Amino acid sequence: MDKTATAEAGGRVGKQWRLAASLKKLFDQVNALYPDRDRASDGAIGDAAHAASVSDHNPDKFGIVNAIDITHDPKSGCDAGELAEALRKGMDSRIKYVIFAGRMFSSYPAHGSPAWVWRPYTGKNQHNKHVHVSVQDDAAWEI
Ligand SMILES: [Zn+2]
Repeated sequence: MDKTATAEAGGRVGKQWRLAASLKKLFDQVNALYPDRDRASDGAIGDAAHAASVSDHNPDKFGIVNAIDITHDPKSGCDAGELAEALRKGMDSRIKYVIFAGRMFSSYPAHGSPAWVWRPYTGKNQHNKHVHVSVQDDAAWEI
């Protein structure tokens, strides 16, 4: 995942982007809790593969990226499974969906599952190395 300050793909070369405020805060909280955590699988802005598809890692119409990946590093204490479960139980309405280790939940009913309930994730990348967190792209939260 590209961590530079500019989106490089999808015709957005040179355009500025920023992370959703809620996700920047989540990163800050995780980094404060686990300062020595591995960040190898961290990410925010999408790479070329993401840009070619619909992904919250691509900047939205406001130039805001609405997804992050947080590396699973249980040795440092940063257990992505525990983090995902805490997010699920917290039911924060800013969350859109979360994926980790072959399963996901969303803040809305989807694919026969109620909101906030784990269901199998059928995508190609099973998300074993990081937890993916998507938030709603509602500008009202971007104060
Ligand atoms: Zn992701």
